[in-house]
Amino acid sequence: MRAELVMIGTELLLGETVDTNASYLAQGLAEIGIDVFYKTTVGDNWLRMTEILSQALSRADVVITSGGLGPTMDDLTRECVASILNYPLALDTEALETMRQYFHTIGRTMSQNNRKQAYLPQGAVAIPNRWGTAPGLIAKVSGRTIFCLPGVPRELKGMFRETVLPYLAHLANESRLVSKTLHFIGIGESQLEELIKPILLTQSNPTIAPYASYGEVKLRISAKAQSNAEALALIKPIEQQICAIAGKWLYGVDSDTIEGNIANALMERTQTLATAESCTGGLISHRLTNIPGSSTFFERGFITYSNKAKMELLNVSEQLLQIHGAVSSEVAVAMAEGARKNANTHWGLSVTGIAGPGGGTVEKPVGLVHMAVVGLDYTKAEVYRFQGTREEIKYRVSQVALNLLRLCIKE
Ligand code: AMP
Ligand code: MG
Repeated sequence: MRAELVMIGTELLLGETVDTNASYLAQGLAEIGIDVFYKTTVGDNWLRMTEILSQALSRADVVITSGGLGPTMDDLTRECVASILNYPLALDTEALETMRQYFHTIGRTMSQNNRKQAYLPQGAVAIPNRWGTAPGLIAKVSGRTIFCLPGVPRELKGMFRETVLPYLAHLANESRLVSKTLHFIGIGESQLEELIKPILLTQSNPTIAPYASYGEVKLRISAKAQSNAEALALIKPIEQQICAIAGKWLYGVDSDTIEGNIANALMERTQTLATAESCTGGLISHRLTNIPGSSTFFERGFITYSNKAKMELLNVSEQLLQIHGAVSSEVAVAMAEGARKNANTHWGLSVTGIAGPGGGTVEKPVGLVHMAVVGLDYTKAEVYRFQGTREEIKYRVSQVALNLLRLCIKE
C-alpha cells in the first residue's frame, strides 16, 4: 500500500512554520508498514492544491493531508477535496453538534464561520476531533482513500492516532515495520559502523541504520514482519550480536536517557548526588531533575563560575586555583569533593571548562573541559576537547559528564 502526504499551508512554504506534522505522519505509517512515496507541500491556493491533490490521488492508495480545515477564508481543503471528488459539500449535523459541544465545554460561543467546518463532501465520514474544532474527513474515490486532518499538531496527532492509524492498519493488513533504537556514547558513528560492518553487510531484514545524534550515536534496527512479535523476534538476535561487539558503549534502548539510567542506578542503591558546574550553567542538574522523583537522589547543585564561588561554596583552595587555574583536573576534583562534602552525598560530579567562543588560550583552548566524579574512597577525573558552538559544547559536556557518572556508579 502506497501513501502520499500533502502538507497544506502557505506558512510552511514561507518557512515560518516547520513541518513537524509530516515526520509524525510518516513515522506512524512506517510503524504499520505503509510506504510513503511522496510528500508535497503546497500553499493555501486553490489551483495548486487541486493540481497536487489530483496528482496524489492518481498515484497513491492513500493520501493524507494536513492543514486548511480551519474556519477562515484561506482554509480551502474541504472545498478543494469536494470539487476534485465531484461531491457537493453538505452539512454534517453530527459534526456540527460535536463542535457546538466543544465550544460549550471551553465556554466560548461558536461563530458563524465555524459552521463552515461542519460541511463535508457528501459521502465523506467525519474524523472526530477531541482536541479542537475542525473535524477531519475520510473520503473514498475509485479505490483510493483520502484523509484530511487539521494542521494544528496536537489535533493532527490525536486524530491520526485515534482514527486514521487503526483505520489504515485494518485496510493495510500487511506487514508491519518495527524498530528498536540502540543508544551509544563514547564512540563515533564511523567507528561503530566499522565495528559492526560484518552484520550490516549481511542484513536485509532487519535493516540496520547508524546515525549520529546530539552527543551520541544511535543504531536503528528495523524489521518487517506480519506481527509485532515476529518483528521483535527478528530484531533480537541482531541486537545481541551488536551488543557482543559494541556493548561497552551502549547505554540504553528506545526512549532511554543517560539521566534516567543514572536515576535508576542511584534509586536502586539509595544513594545521593550533588553537582558542581562551571561551564554547563546548571544543565546537568536540569537534565537530572527532569526525571520524576529526582529529589530522592539529587541533593543539590552548585553553579560556580567565579573563583570566589568555587572557594566559598565548594571550599576549593585559592592556592589550587592559582597554581593550576580554574580549568584543571585538580580543581575539577576539588569541586566534586567540595560538592560531595558540603551536600553530604554519596557522589559528587563536577565540570569545569571553556565553552567559548572567547576565553581560550594556547594551553587551554575553547572546548577544553575537565570533569570529575568522587565517591567514598573513589576519584575519577577526565579531560576532553569538545567542538561546536557554546550551546553545543554545553550539551556535549553534560552528555559526557553524565555518562562518566553512570559508569562510575556501575563500577
Ligand atoms: P490550519 O489547520 O491550516 O489552520 O493550521 C493551523 C496551524 O497549525 C498553523 O497556523 C500552523 O501553526 C500549524 N501547522 C500547520 N501545518 C503544520 C505542519 N505541517 N507542521 C506543523 N505545524 C503546522
Ligand atoms: Mg492553514
